[in-house]
This record gives sequence, structure tokens and C-alpha cells, in this order.
Amino acid sequence: MDICVYCSSSDAVDSKYLESARVLGRAIGSRGHSLIYGGAAVGSMGAVARGTQETGGRIIGVIPEKLYGFGLFFDGVDEKIVTGTMRQRKEVMESRAGGFIALPGGLGTMEEFFEVMVLKQLGYHSKAVVFVDLDGFYEPLMEFLEKLYKENFMKDGTRSQYAVVHDPLAALDYLENYVPEAAESKWFKHP
Ligand code: AMP
Repeated sequence: MDICVYCSSSDAVDSKYLESARVLGRAIGSRGHSLIYGGAAVGSMGAVARGTQETGGRIIGVIPEKLYGFGLFFDGVDEKIVTGTMRQRKEVMESRAGGFIALPGGLGTMEEFFEVMVLKQLGYHSKAVVFVDLDGFYEPLMEFLEKLYKENFMKDGTRSQYAVVHDPLAALDYLENYVPEAAESKWFKHP
């Protein structure tokens, strides 16, 4: 499977985040998958790519021209896709991937991951999406989502459209065993 990983581009985060990205990358390669990601050599992005490379996994890096110009691209990719815009980059990653994993990350990670969750909620795809809640990183976000469920901004059925696991290997297990379900309507008063 081509597995899309969204994760931090920061080198300044605690080493546990970088290490778990590397563990995920190593498992992607050793379990016969490919990595599709934002193409950078920095932060958890670089760590997941180097991990995949260490175990012989194929790496597809998708990066917009502007960021490519910053010189942060990981030169070990097997396939380099340079897009005109950020939107095109997300589109390529979304359409090529068989499933999506969010490791801890910043605004870029949140934006990308929320987009694939929204597309799934609206029935544009039925691929697996999973958060890696390493050491409770995503707990505040999950608490916020609980508020959205409680106050009917989101339907309870949405819960089954994403998973939360606590380590990167469990995320890979989830993707490998995922059976797509038909999406329930997003709306409360609509068929
Ligand atoms: P952030 O979580 O804010 O560090 O942003 C990381 C996410 O945004 C990644 O999943 C990438 O797809 C994208 N991204 C951020 N910075 C870069 C970069 N320098 N090169 C490529 N993609 C990046």
C-alpha cells in the first residue's frame, strides 16, 4: 500500500517524536509498503523517510515548487513529484495513498489530516485514517472533538471514520486490516 504520513517538519521537537517517525518508516519498508509524504528531509518528515529507506521501502515525495526551492527536500526519494501549489500537492497525496497516518505535528499536519477527514465524512473517499496519539499528544484535540459531538456539530457516526492509536505500529496494523464502510450522511436532517 502507498501509505501517506503527515507529520512534523520541526527538528526542534523532543527526540521521542523523531524516533517514533523513524520506527514507523522502518515498519512501512519492512512490511512491504511505500511511503508517500511531503518530501522534506527535516523533522519527523525526514525521520520517517530515512526509516523507510533503511528497510528498502519505496518513497514518493510530493512537494510544491516554492518549498522545493528552500532546499529541504529529501534526496533519497524514489519518485519526486513537484507541484505548482500546496493544494495540488495535497491532491496528489490524497489520491495516490491507500491510507493516512497522522503522527504528532503542527499546523501543516493538522490541515492535511483534517482535509482527509472532511473528504471522508463527505464520501469522497473511504480510506483508513488514523491518529498516532503518542504520549497523549492528541488528547486535547480529541477532547475538543468530544465537544463537537456533544453539541451536535458532528454526528456520533463520524467516530468510526477515524481511529486513534498510541503507537506507530498500531497505526500500520489499522491500515492493513481496514475494511471500508459506507459513509453515513454527515447531516442530521438529510438522507
Ligand atoms: P507542520 O506539521 O506544520 O510541521 O507541517 C508538516 C506537514 O506540512 C507535512 O506533513 C508536510 O506535508 C507539510 N510540510 C511542512 N513543511 C514542509 C517542507 N519543508 N517540505 C515539505 N512539506 C512540508
